[in-house]
Amino acid sequence: MMKRMPFIAGNWKMNKTVSESVDLVKHLKISLSGVQGVEVAVAPPFTALYAVRKELEGSFIQLAAQNLFWEEKGAFTGEVAPPMLKEVGCGYVILGHSERRRYFGETDETVNRKIKATLSQGLKVIFCIGETLQEREGGTAFAIIERQLTGGLKDISNEEMRTIVVAYEPVWAIGTGKTATPDQAEEVHRFVRKKLEALYSKEIAEGVRIQYGGSVSPENVKALMGQENIDGALVGGASLKSETFSQIVRFREM
Ligand code: PEP
Repeated sequence: MMKRMPFIAGNWKMNKTVSESVDLVKHLKISLSGVQGVEVAVAPPFTALYAVRKELEGSFIQLAAQNLFWEEKGAFTGEVAPPMLKEVGCGYVILGHSERRRYFGETDETVNRKIKATLSQGLKVIFCIGETLQEREGGTAFAIIERQLTGGLKDISNEEMRTIVVAYEPVWAIGTGKTATPDQAEEVHRFVRKKLEALYSKEIAEGVRIQYGGSVSPENVKALMGQENIDGALVGGASLKSETFSQIVRFREM
């Protein structure tokens, strides 16, 4: 069976000015030097993308954006278009994050439009899904995940699916210090892969990386990464310090 390359991404959210961002990646370049066998990306706020890209020249660390709008350009005050992110050097765009869904009204349909616009520029997607505490306790977690997957991936072709990374982020575990146990996370990751197999093919489902996100830390990363269907992590809080983020990237040594 094909081995999936682990992928660790840091979602800085609305944190770090330009100078703070540059400072963080300067340190990351040092603490991640010599790291192999893992793909790494950081997602600074829009304002810092250009400066971080400059600082990352020649580094294996990739650049990601946290959001975009689906139109190519025009009268959409306050929005950022896919070609702008492509030119600034992003390789990935995080889409469908639960904070976008919760605070900014994103739906499966708008996430789907954003995914399509991102892929049409040749950018890759980190597609976030995950249930709330209420949904988990109400027994609808799997139905919600299935709905988010099928809605977000509507009309996405087999070839396009190969460039999408799925991030399972249970909302109750984000920024709360409560991590899903490795078994709880693995159960959902296995379900996601089965759904992808039904939507696409076994071969495609086996190749898609599924990250776990939700209070990932240097302490819990190794156990999570030890699960068969967990192929990486989307890291929030712990990505804001080079020490904790690099320990997560170096999960094999933990
Ligand atoms: C996130 O929001 O993507 C996330 C996983 O945050 P944290 O690691 O802080 O829970």
